[in-house]
Amino acid sequence: AKHDGGGCYRFYDTGLKQIAQEQRALLRDLREAIAEKNIVLAYQPIVDAQTLAIRGFEALARWRRPNGGSVSPDRFIRLAEEAGLIEELGDWILGHACAEAATWPEMLKVAVNISVGQLGGRGFIQRVAETLRRTGLAPHRLEVEITESIFMDADTSSFGVLEGLRDLGVGIALDDFGRGFSSLGFLRGFAFSKIKMDMSFVRDMIHDRRSAAVVHAVVGLAADLGVVVTAEGVETLEQLDQLRRQGCTEIQGYLFSRAMPGERIPHLLEELRRS
Ligand code: C2E
Ligand code: CA
Ligand code: CA
Ligand code: CA
Repeated sequence: AKHDGGGCYRFYDTGLKQIAQEQRALLRDLREAIAEKNIVLAYQPIVDAQTLAIRGFEALARWRRPNGGSVSPDRFIRLAEEAGLIEELGDWILGHACAEAATWPEMLKVAVNISVGQLGGRGFIQRVAETLRRTGLAPHRLEVEITESIFMDADTSSFGVLEGLRDLGVGIALDDFGRGFSSLGFLRGFAFSKIKMDMSFVRDMIHDRRSAAVVHAVVGLAADLGVVVTAEGVETLEQLDQLRRQGCTEIQGYLFSRAMPGERIPHLLEELRRS
């Protein structure tokens, strides 16, 4: 038994060591990727639910490691937050997305995800203003997407930052609406310009009456508040049909298109113009 225990311990120990090593390697690669701008952005169309005309694109970060494996943005954004790299990465993403959007036709907006560490950082409003000036993008063409996790920090100054952004003329979307527990409170506390309904509701609404009821309520709520409501993760015609009947404003999802490289956008717009 003693022998077994020792072996077991050693196995456990090596396992942990390996995980720690992999984590260090991942962090090293991420630092390098940020320094060398090896993180790229892909853009997913956001379309009008009724006409299917493109209203804008959401910028989504993509990272392929030197060894070939790709790491999901959920994972490397969290890692960047933990390692104190998020301001540098976030500034780069914002600058890049705004510069790209400045080359698009004027009616198209760009949505950029902003994480907790960025919003709390010093001078965020000034940096956004400076980015808009530098890239020449009109403020109303930028929309920042934030989740309620931004307020979990008990840092109440977050509302102040959002107000500052709104004063610049930037749109502010509440992302993943309904996933957390306090989304309604945030809607009461701040005048968001858009609600993005969490994709779990869209996924379940066809087969689950409760989810359908929540979708119905969120669309009605958005209408009462006078804000745009975007359904995310729309994958089927059935979902599109139901969302349209509910009066949902915008949709986003694989049904219309996946995220694509920026270079592809002019071609897509040209194809759509001709068809
Ligand atoms: P999110 O902001 O909720 O972004 C939507 C996610 O849903 C994206 O995943 C998108 O590719 C995916 N998606 C879009 N349509 C469909 C669909 O029809 N079906 C399914 N199953 N998925 C769909 P992605 O790109 O892996 O990003 C995951 C999350 O990582 C994002 O969730 C966002 O929270 C975060 N993220 C991505 N890029 C950035 C960034 O530049 N900055 C920050 N702070 N976070 C980012
Ligand atoms: Ca988002
Ligand atoms: Ca979302
Ligand atoms: Ca998210």
